[in-house]
Order: sequence, then structure tokens, then C-alpha cells
Amino acid sequence: MRGALGGPRLLLRRLREVMAEPVNAQARLDKIVVNIASNMVAEVCSVYVLRDDGRLELFATEGLNHEAVHLTTMRSGEGLVGRIAESAESLALSDAQSHPAFSYKPETGEEIYHSFLGVPILRGGNTLGVLVVQNKARRTYSEEEVEVLQTTAMLLAEMIASGELQSIVRPGNNIALRRPLALHGSAVAEGVGLGHVVLHEPRVSIKQLISDDPAREESRLDAALESVRHTIDTLIDRGDQAGPGEHVEVLETFRMFAHDRGWLRRLREAIASGLTAEAAVERVQNDARAKLQRRTDPYLRERLHDLDDLANRLLHELTGESFVVAHDQMPDNAIIVARTMGPAALLDYDRGKLRGLVLEDGGPSSHVAIIARALGIPMVGDVKNIVDLVEPNDAIIVDGSAGDVQLRPQPDVEASYGEKARLRAKRQEQYHKLRDVPALTKDGVAIGLHMNAGLAIDLPHVAETGAASIGLFRTELQFMVAAQFPRVKEQYALYKNVMDAVPDVPVTFRTLDIGGDKILPYMSHFEEDNPALGWRAIRIGLDRPALLRLQLRAMLRAGAGREMRIMFPMVATCAEFDAAKHLLEREIAHLTLHKYELPRDLKLGIMIEVPSVLWQLDEMLARVDFVSVGSNDLMQYVFAADRDNRRVADRFDPLSPPALRLLKSITDRAALTGTPVTLCGEIGGRPLEAMALIGIGYRGLSMSPASIGPVKAMLLALNASEVAGLIEDLLAQKSGAQSIRQELRAYAEAKGVPL
Ligand code: PEP
Ligand code: MG
Repeated sequence: MRGALGGPRLLLRRLREVMAEPVNAQARLDKIVVNIASNMVAEVCSVYVLRDDGRLELFATEGLNHEAVHLTTMRSGEGLVGRIAESAESLALSDAQSHPAFSYKPETGEEIYHSFLGVPILRGGNTLGVLVVQNKARRTYSEEEVEVLQTTAMLLAEMIASGELQSIVRPGNNIALRRPLALHGSAVAEGVGLGHVVLHEPRVSIKQLISDDPAREESRLDAALESVRHTIDTLIDRGDQAGPGEHVEVLETFRMFAHDRGWLRRLREAIASGLTAEAAVERVQNDARAKLQRRTDPYLRERLHDLDDLANRLLHELTGESFVVAHDQMPDNAIIVARTMGPAALLDYDRGKLRGLVLEDGGPSSHVAIIARALGIPMVGDVKNIVDLVEPNDAIIVDGSAGDVQLRPQPDVEASYGEKARLRAKRQEQYHKLRDVPALTKDGVAIGLHMNAGLAIDLPHVAETGAASIGLFRTELQFMVAAQFPRVKEQYALYKNVMDAVPDVPVTFRTLDIGGDKILPYMSHFEEDNPALGWRAIRIGLDRPALLRLQLRAMLRAGAGREMRIMFPMVATCAEFDAAKHLLEREIAHLTLHKYELPRDLKLGIMIEVPSVLWQLDEMLARVDFVSVGSNDLMQYVFAADRDNRRVADRFDPLSPPALRLLKSITDRAALTGTPVTLCGEIGGRPLEAMALIGIGYRGLSMSPASIGPVKAMLLALNASEVAGLIEDLLAQKSGAQSIRQELRAYAEAKGVPL
């Protein structure tokens, strides 16, 4: 019988006319329910809309008491309607009153109806309401009728999402779709941003939901499917990486879905019920989302994302709409929301309009996080479901310091965040004023405040912050954001740029520190059980000497005629340093032979981040010109606590005696040989920790640009020898891993040292 249903198609055509009529929202809803009831030969048709207090409110009815409209409500989960809302699944019953969930609402006059058919009103897998028809007589609703009601529910979803119903909402009763939400994720990049949602992958807005010509829609769908399948096949054939996020596994999953019989059958059924091809894709996808979102299995949820991406491709194919936000349509205060995002994509946006970034994936160590921090854009990662919860242009606040996201905030929430952002800006202004003030403690100890960097976009920060130099240039960042291995020429260009940006002082370049969590998408990647202890950094450099030599070549050439520092990461033994130095010497010989100018003064050093170095420190100090303590890795190895695992991050404190004694032993011993020591891990950028580091002898700290102001403000008010004495006493008194954080904080407060 499919396709021969004159009735449903007639209904859809009629509803399309109703949607176009210039009447108010209530009148439109009333007409919709009248039309549905008459077309389906039902005595009752009602629309319930989910409110922000979790209750379903009767918004329109044909057949029930009209006085009950906007008065009758039920909890989600309560009664048949509540159950549909909660499960996001349709329910058809020939004897509703015998169903255990039936609940009686006297004001509606409901008891005389026996048969009941209800469908959820869905958008992005979220329930917005419930659409119901009822009959006095016992009857069985056909599959086609269920299908038609689901299709009309889509129309209602559009109406609710468009904000049209807002005008008939009773004061104090907001529609759930528009409700304010406080969400939490990982704090990834500092700062507070207020603005409006821009979806990184804009949703296709379906203008034409209903069609009179199913045969035509079927062939449109077939053509689109064919084209998407073809694209996927080509991507797979082309090799392991076609574009950001297009790994083979994902593509294979796409291919699987694109040939999935069940999925295709549902699409065709939706078209047969009167939908356009694009509306059919949307409908089927909504149902899949509603079902999969309620599952907790991470594998299934991941597949949902793949299915979403495939549906999205199909929708773009069918409507011809662009995959990217038209940049001229970006609001001036854009907060980008996406499921995942590559680093290059973020760089494509106009920095002047970006106020924040919120991702469903993308924790603190993701590549895009590195870019967000470099650009100074507040970012929160790991926010579940955010893409499905937002509508384009929604008001949104990102607090990248706390990891909070406020969606559609109430005015008081917005005001308090606005205040927070203003305060932050004011503080930044004060730090800016300190830019040219020499970094001397109150008792005259000079502290070198250097900056960590890794990309060309970091360079302006040197002048803005007044950093003494770049104390750590992480060369791997260029490799991580590139689509393919940067060539020597490209590496040289970046390093030269860096040297030119910091003309009078040496920059400390670190050779490639990849592996571990720093994965290059274009480099073949080995699954390792324990990547933090695996094939990474200098280990790769020594095993693939060509790679390291080419990088050293680019560095040496960029440093021609200048003073320059090169350091090797993750060195675990003196032999590794010797081998790396040997490669460097060969490169120097090569460049000399080819008459290249070499750096005037070249200093060689290592990162101290593998604990084994601590027990060969004297031999190492005899070999190197300088060392830099990579406390991020050093602490993770010393405390056996993965630096990217939030569950173990708080289990130790770098301000506990074991950590401080260890860090102090490095400065103590380096002082004996006069070897310069800096520290370039995150703790160097936190004022309280930096205060302690100065107290145990550190005179050079390298940190993210945003930390330089706060650390300078702290040290200008600090008496270095006094804090040194305090820490010595505390370390002598305390035992085990008891932190001295509280005592240090109390000291700073008492002495007016700003933290
Ligand atoms: C460190 O380990 O402390 C460090 C500065 O290096 P990265 O964070 O790049 O590993
Ligand atoms: Mg490190």
C-alpha cells in the first residue's frame, strides 16, 4: 500500500499550507491539530511541549477540553505522554487505559478515549514534546499512520526550534529547548568569552520538508547516496589520511553505514510517507540519535558520531549547502561549537571575531588546544553532547579557566561572567604595565622570565609580554598542525622567523618531541601499550637520524651568525646526548663543507625530564652548556602519574617535599658547575609554584605568555632570600609527601605577595 496513501499526503499538503499562513503561533497550532484529527479520523489530537522545568505542557488540542490548554502538565516519565517524552519512542495502544503507565487528568475529559497513538517531537535526538492522537473506539493504528504522525512531529519540531512558540508561553514557563544550561568540561585554554554560538559544521536547514513526488525524492536520494559512496571510496583508495579527521577506520564505518540495508530501508520508508529526501535523512537520523544517545556504551556513541557525519554529508549533497560557515556571516563575538576540530580549521577563522571554543572532544592535550592557547582563545573541551544542545546564534559563555559553559544564560549569570571578563581584562592591563619593569625581587635577585612558544602566531607575544627570550621553542607544534611532514625549507623559514622576532637574545630551540600523546597524523603510528614510556622524542630522532639531521640543519642555518641554543628532549642517558651531539657535529661539518654560515655561538643542552638523568647529573652537567627542567614530564615519571589523566593529576603536589627536594637538588648541583638551569614546565607559570621555585634556587623560568604578567607581579613583591629560608625550614620539618602549599600561601598572603 505504500505510496498509495492519498490521505497522509493530503494531510501533509494541508499542513504545508497551514505553516505558510500568516497567523499567530496558537492559531497555527490549533489548525494543525484540527487537520491531523480530521485526516486520521481521530477524535483527539494534542500537542504537548517540554518546558524547562521538565514538565510537558498541553499547548493545543482538538477533542480534549480547551480550558486545559496551557494548564494541564505532566512530568517527563509520568503517564503515557511522559513515557514517550522520556523514551523518545512512539507508542501505539488500542486500549490505553489498561496500560500500567496510564494517568488520568480529569480536566481534559480523557477517560472516554480508548485508543492512543503518541510520537516524540525530536530535534537533534532531544525530545521537545509529544504529539498524540486518540480514538473513542478500540482500534489499531497502522504503521503508515505512525509514520505520518512522526512526519508531522518534524514540522512541529521546526516550529518549536524556530522560537515561534515563544510568544504563547505563559510567564515563568520556558520551553525546554530554550532553557539555560550549565555544562561542564575540561578547562583547556584560559579566559572568559561571551558571545553567540557558531556551529563549526553548520546544520543544513531543511526548507522543504514535504514532497508530492516520492519517486523523484527516491531518485534524488539514490543520486546523493551514490555520490557520497563514491567520495568515501575515493578517500579510502587515496590512502591513510584524506583530510582532518578522515582516518581510514572512520571512513570504513561510513562505508558500512552507506551500504546498511536497515538504514536505507528506513530512509525509503520516510520518503514514501511524503517527506523530501533531505527531510527523510533528518528524520531517520533523529530517531537513530534519540536511540543511541540513551545508550552508555562508548563504542555505540562513537558510531553515532560516524552516522551523524554520514547523514551530514548526505544532507549537504542533497541541499548543496556549504560545509563551512561563511566567514562574512560570523557574528563579531563568535563562540565556535563543534564535535571535534583540527588545528588548521581553527586557524582559518578570523581571530578578531573569535571569543571562544567549545568541543565535545578535545581535551587539554589535543592539537587544537595548543592553537587555542596560542591564540589566547578561551576553550572548554570534553563537553558531552554540546552540538545537539545548541541552536545557532544562542547566547553562550565559555569559562576556559574553570571548564564551564553557560548556554542561554539568565541575565544574572551573564552579568556575573561579564564582570569576571572585565576584571580579567583589567588585570591584563595591569600586567601590561609591568612589561618594561625589570624582573627583580625585592631583595634584588634577577629572575629570567622567558616564554614558551612553538608557532609563528606565538611570536608577537614576546614583545607584548616583555619576555626575556623564548626559553622553550617546541618545534613539534609545526609538525603537529601541518597536513604533511614540513620540509627543511619550511622548518628553516619558521626558525628564521623566530630568530628575527627575538633579535638580541638567544632562542632555545628544542628538537622534535613527538610520540607519546603528540601524534603526527601523517606519520605511521604504532600502537604502544604505554606511549608515555614508548618510542618518542630523542629516541625517534636517534633511530631516524635523517629526520633529526634535517631538523638540525634547518636550525643551524636559521641561526647563522647569531647566538643560539639547541636542546634535546627526553634524554635518559649520557650516551643518548653524545649520540645526538655527534649527529649535530656531522651536520655542522656538512654545512661547513657547503660554505654555509654557522651560528656564532652555539650552546647545547638537554631537558631534564627523565628521572634517570638525576643519577648521572654530574656527568651530564660536564657535557652540556645548559639544562632545562621539563617538570611536566619529570613529575609524571617521578610520581608515576600520567600527566593527561585527570583522575591521577591531583594525587601528588609539586609543592610537596619529595618534589621540591628533587627540584632543589638540580639547582644545587648545577650551581657547583655553574651550568645555567631554567625550568620550562607548567609549574613555572603558576605564581605560587614560581615563588617556591625561586626559593629553591631557580633563576630562569620559561612559561606560557599569559603567565608572565602574574609571575612578574608576584616576584616584584617577593623577598627571595626570606622565602628560601622559609622553604628550607619547612622541608626540614615536614615528612613524606605532606604538601607545604598551605604554608606558602599563608606566607604570601601575610607578605602581600600577589598570587
Ligand atoms: C615538560 O615536559 O615539562 C615540557 C616543558 O615539555 P612538554 O610539555 O612539551 O612535554
Ligand atoms: Mg616534556
